[in-house]
Amino acid sequence: MIPYGKQDISERDIEAVVDVLRSDFLTQGPVVPRFEAAVAAYCGANHGVAVNSATSALHLACRAIGLGPGDWLWTSPITFVASANCALYCGAQVDFVDIDPNTFNMCPQQLEKKLAMADSQGRLPKVVVPVHLAGQSCNMKPIKALADRYGFHIVEDASHAIGGRYRDEPVGNCRYSDITVFSFHPVKIITTGEGGLAVTNSEALAERMALLRSHGITREPDRMTHTPDGPWYYQQIDLGYNYRMTEMQAALGLSQLERLDAFVARRSELAEGYDTALADLPLHLPGRCENAESSWHLYVIQVGDSNRHREVFEALRERGIGVNLHYIPVHLQPYYRSLGFSPGDFPVAEDYYSRAISIPLFAGLTNEEQRKVVVASRDALH
Ligand SMILES: *Cc1c(COP(=O)(O)O)cnc(C)c1O
Repeated sequence: MIPYGKQDISERDIEAVVDVLRSDFLTQGPVVPRFEAAVAAYCGANHGVAVNSATSALHLACRAIGLGPGDWLWTSPITFVASANCALYCGAQVDFVDIDPNTFNMCPQQLEKKLAMADSQGRLPKVVVPVHLAGQSCNMKPIKALADRYGFHIVEDASHAIGGRYRDEPVGNCRYSDITVFSFHPVKIITTGEGGLAVTNSEALAERMALLRSHGITREPDRMTHTPDGPWYYQQIDLGYNYRMTEMQAALGLSQLERLDAFVARRSELAEGYDTALADLPLHLPGRCENAESSWHLYVIQVGDSNRHREVFEALRERGIGVNLHYIPVHLQPYYRSLGFSPGDFPVAEDYYSRAISIPLFAGLTNEEQRKVVVASRDALH
C-alpha cells in the first residue's frame, strides 16, 4: 500500500537523535531552545515555544490569550478536531465558519457575514482559528482586517503549512495573527515524532505559553508572587500542564528543518505532476489562491459526481493506494452533534466532504509510485 503521507528520515536525523541520547540532557536541555530559535528565525517570528504536539500548542495559545467560560472560538469545519477541541479544554464554546469552495479554507466573506450577525446578538468570538488546509494559507489579510474591526484574536492553525508562503512571506511570521501553530506529527511536512510549536511576536504571549507548558511553575524570582524560602524554591503561579518537548524530538526537528525547503520543493513538483496527469478526469483538482504558495501537505481530489465518491475511494484502496479523507466535518462528529450541531449547518463543508479524497503526497514518493497512483486513479474513475 502506498500511504497518503510518510516521514522522511535520513542518517543525519538518526545521528542527531543518538547524539542527544549520549548527552547529559534528555529533557529541558539546550536543544529545545535551539530548535525554537531556528523555527522562529525560519518564519521571521520573534519567539517560538516548542511543545509535545500541535494539540497542546493550540491549547496553550488559547490559555495564553485568556479564552475561558463564556467566550467563543470560531474555526473551520474542515479541519482536524484539535482546532476546535482547544476551546472546549478552556471551558469556552465553539462555532464554525463555512469554507470557500475553491480553496477549502475558511471563507472571509462568510466570516464577515457571521460576525455582523454575532455582533448584533452580542456573541462575538474572542478567538478565530483559520486553518491552512493542505498547506495553502488562508487569505489572512481580510481576516486580520475583520479582527481589527471586531476585536478578536487570531491563532493560525498552520499544522499543514510550515514552509508555505503568503504574500511572499513565510507562514508563521504572525503578521496577521497573535500566534501560529505548527505540527510535527510524522505525516506533516517535517517531524519530531510527536511535537508542535507555537510562534508569536508577543513576548508576553510567549512567556505565558512557556510557563503553562511546564505546570505553571517559575524559578525566576522576579515572577514570583511570594518571597522565596531559599535557593531550592520554585513557585507555581498558574495552573499549567506537562506539555514539554524532549531533547531527542528537538534534535530530530532541527535536523529535519535543514531539509524543509527541499521537502516542499519535491511536494510541489509532485503536485504539479498530478495537476497534469489527472487534468482530463471527472475530478476537481486543488484550487489555487493567488496570494499563497502551498507547502503541499495534502493533494485533495474531489470526485465530480458525489454519488461515486465511496466507490472511487474503495477502488483506490483495492488498488493499493492508501487514500484518506481530510476531513470529516468537525460539526458532524458525534461529540459535536451532542453539543447541538447537525447536518446542513455548513453546506459547503458538507459538499466538500461528499467528494474529497487525499491521494499520496510526500517528499519520498518516487516518480514510479506516482505513476501507479495516476494509473489507479484513471482505472477507478473509468
Ligand atoms: C495534525 C493536526 C493537528 C494536531 O496536531 P498534533 O501534533 O497531532 O497534535 C491540529 N490541526 C490540524 C489541522 C492538523 O492537521
